[in-house]
Amino acid sequence: MVSRTQTDSTPLGNESNPLRAIIVGSGPSGFYAAQALLDSGYHVEVDVIERLPTPFGLIRYGVAPDHVKLKSASDVFTGIAQDPRICFWGNITVGCDINVDELRSLFHVVVLATGSDSDRKLNIAGEDLRGVYAAREFVGWYNGHPDHTDLTFDLRHESVVVIGHGNVAIDICRLLTTPIDTLRKTDIAQHALEVLFESRIKEVHLVGRRGPVQSRFTPKELRELVLSDNVQVIVSPEDLTLNPACEMELSMPGARNALKNMKLLNACAKQSSNQCSMSIYLHFRKSPTAFSGTDSKLNRAHFEMQRLTGAAGEQRAQPTGITCTLDAGVLFKSVGYQGTRLPGVPFDSSLGVIPNEKGRLGAPGNSPNFVGLYVTGWIKRGATGVIGTNRADSIETVTQIVADLKCLNTPRKGRTLLHRLLTDRARQVVSFNDWLHIEKIERARGHAVGKSAEKIASVSEMLSLVSADSHAGNPKSALGGAENGKRHAH
Ligand code: NAP
Repeated sequence: MVSRTQTDSTPLGNESNPLRAIIVGSGPSGFYAAQALLDSGYHVEVDVIERLPTPFGLIRYGVAPDHVKLKSASDVFTGIAQDPRICFWGNITVGCDINVDELRSLFHVVVLATGSDSDRKLNIAGEDLRGVYAAREFVGWYNGHPDHTDLTFDLRHESVVVIGHGNVAIDICRLLTTPIDTLRKTDIAQHALEVLFESRIKEVHLVGRRGPVQSRFTPKELRELVLSDNVQVIVSPEDLTLNPACEMELSMPGARNALKNMKLLNACAKQSSNQCSMSIYLHFRKSPTAFSGTDSKLNRAHFEMQRLTGAAGEQRAQPTGITCTLDAGVLFKSVGYQGTRLPGVPFDSSLGVIPNEKGRLGAPGNSPNFVGLYVTGWIKRGATGVIGTNRADSIETVTQIVADLKCLNTPRKGRTLLHRLLTDRARQVVSFNDWLHIEKIERARGHAVGKSAEKIASVSEMLSLVSADSHAGNPKSALGGAENGKRHAH
C-alpha cells in the first residue's frame, strides 16, 4: 500500500518541487501523455518505462510496413524523447522487474499506457487447428516483434479466410496481396518476406458478421485495397441491399465513413472481372460457427448467415439458421484486441480495460488506494480509433493529473531511486541513446539490401549490441536526464 500522509509545503510542479511522473509503455498513447505533461506549464520530470528494448509500441510493431507515413510518427516521438526532462527506461517489465506499487512510492504520478496485448477469442470449435492464426500474432510476426519471431505461418494455400471487418483485417488482406517487390523495400521482417515469397495465395475471403454500413474499416484503408493494381475486390450487389435501419444509419451524424465505404463497395459491385492475379471477396452477414480440418489441419470454415435486428445505430447480428462454408488452408481471426491484467491494478476482464474515469483511477475521497494512478490509450478505452485518437485521449488524462496536483504533493524521489532500485536488481536498462544505436544499425543493415531498415527481432541481440555503458550500473546512460537522446549513438 502506498502511503500519502506526509505532504510537501512547496506547491507541486515548481522548479524546486517538480512533478515526477512515470509512464508505463512507450507506444503512441504513452508518448502523447509525455508530450502533454511537458506542455502542461508545470515543472515536470517524465520517465517512460518500456518492456522491450525498443520504443514506439504499435508504431513499430502494429502499423503495417508499407504504411510509411503512419510509421513516421516515430520521428515526432523521437523528438519528444530527446527533451531534457524525459528519461527512457527500456527492457524493464512492470509487474516483473518492478511493480506498480513500487513505482507509486517513487513517483507522484504513474500513467499506465500498456495498450491491448491479447486477442478477443471466438470460442468456437476448431480455433486451435493448425492454419488458424490470431491477427495480432501475424501482425507482430511480419513487423519483427520479438514475442512473435518464432511463429511459423504456412501460406502455401490458394484460399485464405480473414474474419472481421476492421482495419487490422484490411492490413492483413493488403499484406497478403501486395507484390513482394513492393514489400522488399519496407522494413518488413526478413523471415516474413521469405514466407510471403513462397505464398500461393490467389483468393482472400474477408468475412464480417454485420453489414457493409456497420463495417469498422475506414474508407482510406478500403480505397487502398480497391485501387490496388494487383488485386480485384469483389462484392456481391445483394450484399449491398440495405434494410430501413441501415438506410437511417447512413443519414445519421457520424456516417461519413460508412457513406464513403458504401460508395467504394457499390463501385466494386459494378466492376466487371479484370485480369488481376488475386481476388479479395468481401462477405457480409456471416458469423463463424466452427473450423474443421483433417489431421488437426484447417481445411474449412463454417458460417451461419445473419440478419440485422435492432434500432438504427444499435443493430446486432442475429442467426438465421442458414449455414454456408468456405474452403481455406489458412484463416486469420481479426476480431479485435484486448488489454491484460497488471498485478495490483483493477481490471475489467470482459472489456479488457482498466476501469477509470477520464483516465483517473483514484479520485480524492473516492478510491484513495489508487490516488496518483492514471491510464491512457487502449488500456483506458479499448482498442479503438487511429493513432491520432491517442493524442486527445492522453490530453484528457493529463488534464485530470493537473487538476489533482494538490492531492499528489507528497515527497517522491523519482528517477534517482528508480535507478538505484534497478541497479540493485541488476537489470540491464536500455536508454534512448542505446535505442538510437540499435536503430542506426537496423537502418545500415536495411540500406545494404535496399530496405528502409532491417529490424532486429531478437532481444538478446539488441542487448548485446548496446554498449557496456548502457547498463543500469552506469547513471550517465541509464539516467540520461539532460543528455538523454542528445548524445549520439556509440
Ligand atoms: P475492430 O475495428 O474493432 O474490428 C473488429 C471486427 O471484428 C469487427 O468487424 C467486429 O464486428 C468483428 N468481430 C468482433 N467479434 C466478433 C465475433 N465474435 N465474430 C465475428 N466477428 C467479430 O478491430 P481491429 O481491426 O483489430 O482494429 C483495432 C483498432 O486499430 C481499430 O480502431 C482500427 O481502426 C485501428 N487500426 C487502424 C489502422 C489504420 O489506421 N490504418 C490499421 C490497423 C488498425 P462487429 O462490428 O459486429 O463487432
